Amino acid sequence: MTSTMSSPWRATILTLYPEMFPGPLGLSLSGDALARGAWTIEARNIRDHGIGRHRAVDDTPAGGGAGMVLRCDVLAAAIDAAAAPDDPRPRLLMSPRGRPLTQGRVRALAEGPGLVAVCGRFEGVDERVIEGRGLEEVSIGDYVLSGGELAALVTIDACVRLLPGVMGKAASGVEESFEGPLLEYPHYTRPRDWEGRSIPEVLLGGNHAAIARWRSAAAERLTRERRPDLLGQDPAK
Ligand code: SAH
Repeated sequence: MTSTMSSPWRATILTLYPEMFPGPLGLSLSGDALARGAWTIEARNIRDHGIGRHRAVDDTPAGGGAGMVLRCDVLAAAIDAAAAPDDPRPRLLMSPRGRPLTQGRVRALAEGPGLVAVCGRFEGVDERVIEGRGLEEVSIGDYVLSGGELAALVTIDACVRLLPGVMGKAASGVEESFEGPLLEYPHYTRPRDWEGRSIPEVLLGGNHAAIARWRSAAAERLTRERRPDLLGQDPAK
């Protein structure tokens, strides 16, 4: 149980909707680990650093156009209050323009001290704060969300399940999709026959070598059918 000996993995989220956290991460495996102190989460309201009586956080885009943009001075003040300059945690900006999140990046984040995640809203954030505070733009896929909060929840969930002692059986993470070059093989459990469909015979025979062969053939077939782009790709990427 290294997690209880060393300091816990720390997530800090900067958001206009702190009540969205821990949200689903307060349940199940991540919730149990949170209650045990294996990791911590702090959601901070960007609006606490808003300007004037109305605590404004956004303004109209320079050059015109639709929507509003989060102000760089407001966001920078929120970031500076949340993470000291010597805070070793990476500072992520959830962004559809970012590098797509991969299991490799998740593993590296989980092995580190935690993360600071900035959640955009509206049209996004003033470009200058990305440069000025060294934010790493991270996308969770090629589609547009209405805010960065769900993307932060997805990213943190993927990290937390890799922390030592969080998953029931440590081994169950190793054979999964994206931990190797192949998608995962299909699973079955009782009942043996269901609506005319039965469990493949080889899985019931107890021949472990034959089972391993069947599983790797199934994983390879599924990967070829669904994600040929993964074949031959370095799984660490
Ligand atoms: N105008 C922007 C989209 C803004 S969506 C554009 O076209 O690129 C509002 C906020 O939602 C973003 O600032 C970002 O924080 C978040 N967001 C939207 N889609 C996302 C995605 N695929 N991954 C991560 N964050 C996303």
